[in-house]
Amino acid sequence: MSEQNLTIALSKGRIFDETLPLLAAAGIEPVEDPEQSRKLIIDTNHADIRLVIVRASDVPTYVRYGAADFGIAGRDVLIENGGEGLYQPLDLQIAKCRMMVAVPQGFDYAAASQPGCRLRIATKYPDIAAEHFAAKGVHVDIIKLYGSMELAPLVGLSDAIVDLVSTGNTLKANRLEAVEHICDISSRLVVNKAALKVKHARLQPIIEAFAAAIGQ
Ligand code: AMP
Repeated sequence: MSEQNLTIALSKGRIFDETLPLLAAAGIEPVEDPEQSRKLIIDTNHADIRLVIVRASDVPTYVRYGAADFGIAGRDVLIENGGEGLYQPLDLQIAKCRMMVAVPQGFDYAAASQPGCRLRIATKYPDIAAEHFAAKGVHVDIIKLYGSMELAPLVGLSDAIVDLVSTGNTLKANRLEAVEHICDISSRLVVNKAALKVKHARLQPIIEAFAAAIGQ
């Protein structure tokens, strides 16, 4: 990583879309839309600033190892996959949602989640789920999934799911209902600690532009 160049790690979809106005506030515009392109490295209007498009859960890894100078990662990813070794200067208040427990409509969750009960939970977030149920004194068998958690209780793979809920439309479409709020989630700016020192003059104005754009 050259001293002049900046590499920014982003994931496609919600986070990318909601990051565009922040990048624009810092004068950075991607020359291509990653949804329309198969390119994993996207140039910007600055010859020395590029974006790398990675899976949301890989953003902290790219930044931690310095393959990207900074990135934007959901709090869900930072809690579950580790935010250690990363400087996290700003909660960007984007890609907001809630980490919830959800069950099939009509399932008596209050009775099934008494201390001492046992539940099967399908989730992409085994650590968050395990900690939540341990605090309630509920025994859980955690079934790790990588996507479409909503299907698991419908076909008898689990009693409940722990997943992100935004509008609630996905739950409703699958006849599920949210029964417990675990935590609020939004996305954070994560910066490589070495880059923050070596490239401080380049990074600081961008961090300040992001902060101003979100009113901080
Ligand atoms: P919704 O139907 O709007 O409640 O969205 C729920 C679906 O989108 C679930 O599959 C979630 O895992 C996913 N989801 C919602 N919000 C986010 C987010 N901020 N980041 C990543 N995935 C999300």
